Order: sequence, then structure tokens, then C-alpha cells
Amino acid sequence: MIIIMKPNATEEAVRGVTREIESKGLKVHLSKGDQVTIVGVVGDKGLLRGVNFEVAEGVDKVVAVTESYKLANKKFHPEDSIIHVGNTTIGPGNLTIMAGPCAIENQEQLMQTAFAVKKSGANFLRGGAYKPRTSPYSFQGLEEEGLRYMKEAREATGLNVICEVTSEHAIESAVKYVDMLQIGARNMQNFELLKEAGRSGVPVLLKRGLSATIDEWLNAAEYIMSEGNENVVLCERGIRTFETATRNTLDISAVPVLRSRTHLPVIVDPSHATGVRSYVAPLAKCAIAAGADGLMIEVHPNPACALSDGPQSLTFEQFDRLTSELRPYAALSGRSF
Ligand code: PEP
Ligand code: MN
Repeated sequence: MIIIMKPNATEEAVRGVTREIESKGLKVHLSKGDQVTIVGVVGDKGLLRGVNFEVAEGVDKVVAVTESYKLANKKFHPEDSIIHVGNTTIGPGNLTIMAGPCAIENQEQLMQTAFAVKKSGANFLRGGAYKPRTSPYSFQGLEEEGLRYMKEAREATGLNVICEVTSEHAIESAVKYVDMLQIGARNMQNFELLKEAGRSGVPVLLKRGLSATIDEWLNAAEYIMSEGNENVVLCERGIRTFETATRNTLDISAVPVLRSRTHLPVIVDPSHATGVRSYVAPLAKCAIAAGADGLMIEVHPNPACALSDGPQSLTFEQFDRLTSELRPYAALSGRSF
């Protein structure tokens, strides 16, 4: 439930409503816009039975929020959120470009890639130190050693850095080295991991689960936010469908659907969505046109020798060409990078 205050409601009126909610053991989420203040109620609204906020001082109207996610809900926070990460922000106005290898393989590979993607306009370096591989025999990542290389690349280039975390132990290590944690598709409903990422307070990029509905995805975001961490960005990375021509099917409609349901920024990962290098550029353009706040793109110095996801990784030259092609699309969407 949300309580929309009148445009001229006093601070005292807002406090009155807030006090009433808290006295029943519920939590309050305040959203102060330019025009109105919205008081969101978090918790079991059954506890408010018998309280009529419609007649309380300064209240305009009361609206039921039927969705189970509240903090992530656009009704709680009608303006699009801007998430501060490292030296940048993700959200309106900016086009965030996260680029880098699927897996951190060694110091040289990461450092070379960091300088190359920075030169082409990326503002985040991505790279996996803990790799959730389909086969237990595939390269599993350099773990803390990889995180150290990530921090070195950050210091050398000024790029913000993001790494996937696959366990609570990985979160404990990663928070010492990176600006943003990534929760991957396979862990989107690992609720203990989500809660731990929430408690870390570090911004989180939450990828969509392989077979997750948008509703399930927003509830996963709610797990992080309900632990006090509202710095969540969503990443559409393709879903499982009957189609086999691409690794996954990019659900581009998720971008406008999310825009209407949540205030959280949304980025798109055309690399994992397609699994095919030549399809990355058209879908990256499509994502910007659909209104995405950014992109995540896999780039490798020598994709043919990559230890993970080589077929979808761009070379430095291909990535550079792509970013120059993307600039007019970004400008048309009122964004820059
Ligand atoms: C990745 O970003 O390297 C990754 C494993 O992505 P996803 O979780 O989307 O499969
Ligand atoms: Mn990958």
C-alpha cells in the first residue's frame, strides 16, 4: 500500500502518517518527489486494518500495491532511480558500458583489456573471478587472485570494476576489491546470496535467471533491497526458449516492461543473450533504442583462445567499432558515454 500525500502536505502531516504505520510494527519507505511525497508501507498490511489513512491530515489518496515486490516497485518510487557506483552513476542521462572478458585469465589479459575498453568508451571493466560453469571440468576462475588483478586494473585505468559472486564467501572477498557485485543468472533465486549481497551495501547488478519471469526477477531484487541495499541494477541477458539458433533469446520487451514496473535501472547483455559475436552489435543498438540504461559486453584480446565464452566475445577492434556505432543511438535516446 502507498499513501500519496497532497502536494502541500506539511512535514508534520507526513510524520503523523509515518508514526501511525510504525506504531503497528510496519516499515515506512519515503519517496520525496518534486511535487508529492509518497509514503510506502512495507510489511503485512493486515496490521493496518481499521486505520483509515484517507481521512488523515495531508493525505491525498491511498493506493493498494498488489505486487509482492514493494521497494522495487515503481509505485513506491515513481521517479527512475540513479544508482551511484564508484566514480559514476547508472540511470537516466548516462549510457553505462560494462565491458571485459568473461573470465579473468591472467594479469596481462585483464590489464590489456581494461586499457582497450576504456579507450573505446567503456566506464566499467567486467570480468569473472568465480565462474559458474555448466561443467565442473571447465575453468572455474582465479578467485581472489582474479579480484586482485581487477583492483589493479581499476587503479591503472580509473574504470569501475564489477565481478560476479557465487557464494557468501565470494561476497566477503569481493567487497574488498570491486565497486559492484554481479549476481548471475544461475543464482538469481539463491535467496541467501541475495540477502548477503543486500547486507553488504555494495551496489548489485542482478541478472535475470535463465527461466525467470519478470515478476520473479523483481522479487529477487526485493530480497536485496529488503536488507537495506537499494543500489540494485537489473540486467536482461536472454532467457531459455525453444529457439536454438542463439544461446538464449533476448527478451527486449523486458526493457519497457521493467520501465513501467520498477524505478531500478535496466541494462542489457547481448553477449550472453546470443552467444554469437556477430549478433552482439545489432542487439546492442536495439537495447539502447528500447530504453536500456546500459550494456554489458564481453571483450577478449584473443577470443579464439578464451577460457570461457570465446564465441560471443568481441576483439578490441570489434568493440571499438561497436562503441562508435553506438554513439548516435545513445544521443538519440538522450544519453551519453
Ligand atoms: C557472465 O556474465 O559471465 C555470466 C556468467 O553471465 P550469466 O549469469 O548471464 O550467464
Ligand atoms: Mn560469459
